Amino acid sequence: MSEIQLLPSVLAFLERDHANFIDGAYAPSLSSNKIAVVNPANGQVIAHIRDADEADVQAAVNGARQAFKGAWADMLPYQKGVILNKLADLIDANNEELAQIETLCSGKSIQLSRHFEIAQSAVFLRYYAGWATKINGETMQPSIPSFGTEKYTAFTRREPVGVVAGIVPWNFSVMIGIWKIASALVTGCTVVIKPSEFTPLTLLRIAELAIEAGVPAGAFNIVNGGGQVGQQLIAHRLISKVAFTGSVPTGIAVGQAAMAANLTRATLELGGKNPAAFLADVDVDMAVAGIIQTAYVHQGQVCASPERFYVHRSRIDELLEKLAAGLAELKIGSPLDESAQFGPLANKPHFEKMLGYFKRAAAESQIVYGGQAIDRPGYYVQPTVIRAHSAGDSLLHEEIFGPVTCFLPFDTEEELVELMNDSPFGLTASLWTNDLSKAMRLIPQIEAGTVWVNMHTFIDPAVPFGGIKASGVGREFGSAFIDDYTELKSVMIKY
Ligand code: NAD
Repeated sequence: MSEIQLLPSVLAFLERDHANFIDGAYAPSLSSNKIAVVNPANGQVIAHIRDADEADVQAAVNGARQAFKGAWADMLPYQKGVILNKLADLIDANNEELAQIETLCSGKSIQLSRHFEIAQSAVFLRYYAGWATKINGETMQPSIPSFGTEKYTAFTRREPVGVVAGIVPWNFSVMIGIWKIASALVTGCTVVIKPSEFTPLTLLRIAELAIEAGVPAGAFNIVNGGGQVGQQLIAHRLISKVAFTGSVPTGIAVGQAAMAANLTRATLELGGKNPAAFLADVDVDMAVAGIIQTAYVHQGQVCASPERFYVHRSRIDELLEKLAAGLAELKIGSPLDESAQFGPLANKPHFEKMLGYFKRAAAESQIVYGGQAIDRPGYYVQPTVIRAHSAGDSLLHEEIFGPVTCFLPFDTEEELVELMNDSPFGLTASLWTNDLSKAMRLIPQIEAGTVWVNMHTFIDPAVPFGGIKASGVGREFGSAFIDDYTELKSVMIKY
């Protein structure tokens, strides 16, 4: 088992004095509070970051406001598109450096960092860049009767909301950050991002690349720190929109704080407890490959991944047997080992939470595979499969956000729909069947923002993504994001 060599530029980057990125430059913080950034693959501290204090938040928002009224507003739409495309090129050109930094602080496999987190960030950025020249209002013909010779016309303008506070989690800290940065910049907004305190590094390097690409100073800022920095940002009177991705409890607190601040608009991309349904005709081998690919990638720490599985009673034993055999084949190892297929959880608190779930699974349900920590440095646990005793088992209802799948058999389609919708969440769902007309009849009955057929967890920049019920408010991607980052101004003219 061999690890890749870290690039000299990565080693030099880790040595830097990290804090915030404000007004176009690395900004040292006056705060004496230092956060240790830990490599979850071995528990060792790889860097420190000084978190932002109130003065830093103030400086970042003021810088963003100035750029919103000045340099970024002065750029033509096509220039904005060119700059965002240039940033995508620079992300591609620096893929290896960015991927290594991300893997070191998140525990994500180096292959996933290279080919998904960093490469897809560039793909999404280019998609958003294409919108720069296409965000327009409409003209309409009013019905006001004319009492003389006067006439009326009307049109709408799409105007950027202002400075956006983007708050992002640790699981895909670069890509989720990029979704918010790109949405803000392409609509003419400017942005202050607060990364997760567990994964604060990679976006700092991307902020430098943004300056190299031509993003004006102040248009894209970063303040680092924990939840209190997020709260200061939301409460700032010059923040016009909050774009949050994270857990449901934090999302509720963020939504309430945004409302209380200034009726600040907020989009909330939250967690879920995503169901996957395997109908009686399912191809079990395809299903098993699909489950391993989508439920265990990044050790299950993916918001869109399936966590609860309803399998037709006639197929569940075969499926569980083959799934356990497939998981036994997974190569577990360091995320810097290119051949490893399964690595550590992203941080210690999450690792400890997972051990708690294992205890509950042993007491409440049946552990079919795994269910233990792995005895090595770092935060490794076994990929785990649980068979629930009944629909009431608690692990069928709580978001675990780890490499733990929970199965229950079903008999009828009516029962299946009831089970799938028996959740306060509604982020994603999937149906696995070769009977397309059956799938088409089930899709409208499923309460989820996205429904996949014979796949799960595949996102695309052209297809809107977001949750219903307690999984969130608002949509990213497609054209849907434009509504959330712009105000619609109506203009009526008498002539
Ligand atoms: P989290 O809610 O703990 O933290 C998310 C971010 O919010 C972090 O930057 C954190 O510092 C900040 N924060 C914490 N308290 C805050 C407060 N009171 N005010 C403002 N900001 C605060 O989530 P996490 O553990 O980092 O990420 C995992 C969660 O994110 C899971 O629930 C997962 O489902 C969800 N998630 C959702 C999506 C989606 O698109 N729907 C994508 C990825 C992750």
